[in-house]
Amino acid sequence: MAIPSRKDQSQQAVERIRAERAKGESAENLAVQLQSGNRSALARAITLVESAQETDIIKAEQLLRLILPHSGKSMRIGISGVPGAGKSTFIEAFGSYLLQAGKKVAVLAVDPSSEAGKGSILGDKTRMNELAAHPDAFIRPSPASGALGGVARKTREAIFLCEAAGYDWILVETVGVGQSETAVHSMVDFFLLIALAGAGDELQGIKRGIMEMADLVVINKADGDNLPKAKAARQEVQRALHFFPELPSGWIPEALLASSLEKSGLAEILDAIDRYRQHVKGNGYFEQHRKEQSRWWLRETIQHALVDLFFAQPTVQQELLLREEEVLRQQQSVSEAARHLIAIFRK
Ligand code: GDP
Repeated sequence: MAIPSRKDQSQQAVERIRAERAKGESAENLAVQLQSGNRSALARAITLVESAQETDIIKAEQLLRLILPHSGKSMRIGISGVPGAGKSTFIEAFGSYLLQAGKKVAVLAVDPSSEAGKGSILGDKTRMNELAAHPDAFIRPSPASGALGGVARKTREAIFLCEAAGYDWILVETVGVGQSETAVHSMVDFFLLIALAGAGDELQGIKRGIMEMADLVVINKADGDNLPKAKAARQEVQRALHFFPELPSGWIPEALLASSLEKSGLAEILDAIDRYRQHVKGNGYFEQHRKEQSRWWLRETIQHALVDLFFAQPTVQQELLLREEEVLRQQQSVSEAARHLIAIFRK
């Protein structure tokens, strides 16, 4: 295991202090403070929601019940792209652009691979200096490593907390490597993919499945010598997007150019998101989609909780070893063993 850096150690110390403070605090008090826009109360509330301790879980549920009626008013944007595509730089530029327009911006992350000491996306806030220093911005790194479902569920609850605290734009960053996109897609209103013009392969680093989820593909680093390549890549992405199946929202995805470094292309991106919002609010998809997401998360959460209960049960644990042996010796089929074990669990 990597030795935690000093920065990680101090971040862990801050977390511990927050957790201690949250312990002595009632859910009601936390809810009131958070709704008054107190950023440190928001940070403590997220720490509470992320905690795995039994007493914290109960308090987090109380807190969420109190704030849920006051959540939901933001625009939730998922931002994905391969490492190095410029996600952090883009979030810094676009987030600052939103702040200039008088918005309150929260930045969250889903990175199931992050580990204490290993450094996670957003773990290093120095990458977002301007945002981190602004009173109307709130940046929170990914919850600690764990199963993707758990990490993502906590981030989704953090979205509600940020909304209750008055943030009207929530940017959820994720690493562009596969499954975490699906989890993030299931908690946002709009999915933005950051891509690069690559040498030879114009769609470098874009997995087809991820591009199919995108409402907007931003070709980043459209500056300097790279501009002609970026323009060509934009055309190619735009063409490719036309071949994908129609999105359930009825929205036709777009490809745009940006330079996060030069802060160009941001107005066009905001304009596309605004047009998307009008489109899905007009046809009812916005509300319908959020309801579908809640339904999906309820089922997903139950599934995981049941699996945990199953494997934690002592009779199941005993029998599992025996049945496993029989399966390995080809004396029993997997389906028979599974059915038998589930029958034991249900008793
Ligand atoms: P991430 O891993 O996707 O978060 O990518 P980063 O935001 O850390 O950016 C990776 C590198 O690309 C950094 O060196 C950035 O300075 C650089 N970069 C990001 N955006 C741009 C851009 O628009 N133009 C140029 N030329 N470089 C950029």
